[in-house]
Formats: sequence, C-alpha cells, structure tokens
Amino acid sequence: MTAVAPTTADFIELDERWSTHNYHPLPVVIAEAEGAWVTDVRGQRYLDFLAGYSALNFGHRHPALVAAAVEQLGRVTLTSRAFHHDQLGLFCRELAELTGTDLVLPMNSGAEAVESAVKIARKWAYQVKGVPQDTAQIIVAGSNFHGRTTTIVSFSTDEVARADFGPFTPGFTAVKYGDVEAVAAAITDRTAAILVEPVQGEAGVVVPPAGYLRELRRLCDENNVLLVADEIQSGLARTGTLFALDHEGVRADLYTLGKALGGGILPVSAVVGRGDVLGVLKPGEHGSTFGGNPLACAVGRAVVRLLATGEYQERSRVLGEHLHRSLNELVGRGVAEVRGRGLWAGVEIAPGGPSGRAASEAMMARGVLCKETHETTLRVAPPLVITEAEVDRGVEVIAEVVAGH
Ligand SMILES: *Cc1c(COP(=O)(O)O)cnc(C)c1O
Repeated sequence: MTAVAPTTADFIELDERWSTHNYHPLPVVIAEAEGAWVTDVRGQRYLDFLAGYSALNFGHRHPALVAAAVEQLGRVTLTSRAFHHDQLGLFCRELAELTGTDLVLPMNSGAEAVESAVKIARKWAYQVKGVPQDTAQIIVAGSNFHGRTTTIVSFSTDEVARADFGPFTPGFTAVKYGDVEAVAAAITDRTAAILVEPVQGEAGVVVPPAGYLRELRRLCDENNVLLVADEIQSGLARTGTLFALDHEGVRADLYTLGKALGGGILPVSAVVGRGDVLGVLKPGEHGSTFGGNPLACAVGRAVVRLLATGEYQERSRVLGEHLHRSLNELVGRGVAEVRGRGLWAGVEIAPGGPSGRAASEAMMARGVLCKETHETTLRVAPPLVITEAEVDRGVEVIAEVVAGH
C-alpha cells in the first residue's frame, strides 16, 4: 500500500465534514508560517495581508515571542487563579506601565474582555454612580463588532450575527457611529458607559470623523459616564500608535485588549484602566480558569516588550502612509474608496467590480491572502513586520484583481 499525501481538497473536505460551518474560509490550507509569509500544504507561499485580523501584528512566530513561550513551557503553564504564580504580577505591572493605566484584569478571548468591561461598568454604575439596580444603560455604536457572546450580539446591529440567538440582554442603546449629537441625546442619568471602537474594523475599517472621540470623552466627563474603548483590533500598534485613541489625545477609563496581546500564539485578552473602576471587582465576583495563566502572561510580557520599543508603532505609521498613498492611486481604477489608519485599510471595490469574496480568491491565486468584510470591502491588515516591497506586491495584486471596473 502506498501512502498518498492528503491534498488541499482532502483537508477542506475534512473541515467541511467535521467542523461546524460557522466560517467560509478561502480554499487555502496553511501548514507553516514565518513573519509575513505562510506556506500551504502544497508548498505554495503566500503573503499574509490579513494577519489574523491583527492578532498577528508581530508576524507569524516572532522569534522573541516564540522564545518566551518555549521558555515558559519548560517551567509552568497553568496554576488557575487558586494560587499565585511568578508571571501574573509582572505581566500586569508591565502592561499597566505600557498603557499608562492603574490595573489589569487578564482574560482570554476578546469577547470575554468586552463581557468583563460590561460587567465592570454596570457594577461601577450601581456602586459608585448610584444608578438604581438593574437599570444601567450602555451606549454603543451602530455597526459595532465586539464579539460573539449572547450579551454582545444583543447590542449588535448586524442581523446575521443576531438572528435566532434571542432572547437578548437588555441595557444597551445603539446610536449611529460618528454621530456625537446622537450619543448626547442618548445619555441619561442611568448611563453607565459609552462603549466604542475607535476605528470600526469589522464594519470595514471605518475611521470616525475628526473630533468624535474627543467629544465622547467630553460627554463622559460632563455626565459621569465611563468611556470604554474596545481596542482589541485597533490597539497595540495597528494604527501607528499604541492605541487608536492616541490619535486624538484621548484617554479611556477602560480599554479592552486582545488579539495581538497573545502575540499570535495563544488567546490573551485584558481589561485595563482606572483603578477605582476596575477596583469594584471583589474576590469571587468575576474570573476565568485560564485568565492570566503563566504561559499567557509570559507571552504577553514579551508582547509588551516589543511594543515598548515603539518600533512596531513606527513601522505601522511609516508603512501605513505608504500603503494608503499606493491604495489611493487605485481610486477610480477599480477602487471606490480607501479608509483606514496606519497599516490598516478598508478597500471599497467599485460598483461593477468583483465581489469581495471573488477579489479575495483572485488575490489568493496570485499569492496574497486577504479577506473581504461585507460584500464589497477588502480588509487589509498586514503583519507590522512586512517590508515596503512586500506591501507594494500586495497592492499590485489588489490593483490587478479590481482593475478594469
Ligand atoms: C475580534 C474583536 C473582538 C472579539 O475578540 P475574540 O477574541 O474574537 O472574542 C472584540 N472587539 C473587537 C473590536 C474585535 O475586533
């Protein structure tokens, strides 16, 4: 009997047969990756122009991150929070110092960080602000994306994300993203928080109007409301600064972090922010078996060290300017609009052009991996270790697949 190596089709068939169909991936089966490049099971190489939705800001298998993980794997990986371990305090201190915050609540997935922030904001509203029990409101933005739990989809405005998952959690008011007046009108004496993505990633890399985030800060200050910034995708160097809020010189009361915090190695998320707000949590009130585990903390510490150099923020800023300049040259040549900030762009394909899906598949055939969001937007978010020549290659491929429309 001769062993026949499984093909791309075999692997896809396995996925289709045994894994739930809650995603529609491109037909590429990745077997290895390094830096900005991945290799499929056929040995074909692709430039990664998505970076795990910014979970891979430092590229695949960054040597410093892998070394930190391997080192920790040889020591201790899990204790649960029943006991102390020697990485937790260091991780929390270093992350707090990097972010200029007081306290850190470590969790795992991004959705858990958002859930945690919702719980904290509510508890703060009852215990500190004096909102009557069970009446706290949180203002969110339309077209938001904050994760997939039942409470989070309760305040999604995306029908696909919500349909058939009710009954929903009450206590949220959605108003148009970018509209300060709408937020002001929605604030009451029961408002605990405004929860906002400083740049909306899933919605298509939507940057709000200049001054919007500053105005939200002002409304929060005037009304004793918490500003909660979901920087899970926009934060940690993606937009050219540590936080996307930094572009407007705005500080949040709470930040939710995730994705790149785990260095592309494992899920690590956190809520960071004001000590008097995070301080409302007492033992037994909230937690997670894996939250703040030694392996996560060791990798998270290595991520903090990379960010502390400022090198990745700078790369995103400089290469981002180059990316946006190049993409903007395609406007009128198959591209209707380019949005974004730093090394992050939403490329709106012109009417009459290929669908986002078709464009992504055509890019894949040309060796660049990208993914659409909604029908007509390509989401570009390369690892921040990418070179300028590689950025040019990716843009060239985008130009080819959208050309002629
Ligand atoms: C990805 C994302 C989340 C959810 O993170 P998961 O790790 O997928 O649960 C929440 N908020 C924003 C802005 C995100 O981009």
